[in-house]
Amino acid sequence: MGKVYIVGAGPGDPELLTLKAYRLIKSADVVLYDRLVNPEILLLAKPECQLIYVGKEEGKHTLEQEKINELLLHYAHTKEVVVRLKGGDPFVFGRGGEEALFLAEHGVEVEVVPGISSATGVPAYAGIPITFRGLSSSFAVITGHEDPKKERTSVDWESLKGINTLVFLMAVSNRKEIARRLIEVGRDPKEPVAFIERGTTREQRVVITDLYELANYPPEVNPPALMVVGQVIKLRKLISFKEVVACFYPTVENL
Ligand code: SAH
Repeated sequence: MGKVYIVGAGPGDPELLTLKAYRLIKSADVVLYDRLVNPEILLLAKPECQLIYVGKEEGKHTLEQEKINELLLHYAHTKEVVVRLKGGDPFVFGRGGEEALFLAEHGVEVEVVPGISSATGVPAYAGIPITFRGLSSSFAVITGHEDPKKERTSVDWESLKGINTLVFLMAVSNRKEIARRLIEVGRDPKEPVAFIERGTTREQRVVITDLYELANYPPEVNPPALMVVGQVIKLRKLISFKEVVACFYPTVENL
């Protein structure tokens, strides 16, 4: 019987792997990896290691979650070192908790290795400090995937009014509705919004807008992207950072 390591691969740049993740990928007999894992990271695996893609495309789930669970169980019984590799941190919207629970319930030894979540790593690479003395003393990480028009959504929009910096994941398709909701609960329509596509990779692209513009004339954004809302975005220009291709949304000035 082997052991399953549920490992965070970080947001993209392979150098953002933890030393523990690096060591485990190198020693793995099998790696089951997600769509958002940078393929360069898989090159670290030993030649005889089995690499299995279990990613879920948006809308179309290549493998249902139950099938992934069954695969993990199968490899736990047939291999020594099983690495379940996920983008970012496995416990931040990564279904890592569900997988760990499933394996534990089936008597499999599990270890969770945290990773740098895109929620914090991606804004940092784009020069946006999510907290900043005098500008932001709180941040929240929120799923943008739930339909904000739904009555029974579990996102408590009212509670988001008083949090300085908001970081939305999986928000691209609902971006317009999210902006409307935030204005509705009382956030300033002039508040800056940043979208960071493919953060920490060579294809990183930053799009700047504000809540009003986003609610009415949403700019083009392609997933995977992070949506950041807050005054801290204004610091972006003042902080030096490497290789950011910025695309300024033309109607917003003085950012
Ligand atoms: N567990 C992951 C998140 C999984 S949900 C983590 O901790 O980062 C997937 C969402 O994460 C995407 O829809 C996107 O919003 C965000 N994301 C992941 N990697 C990203 C990247 N390199 N750049 C921008 N957004 C990213």
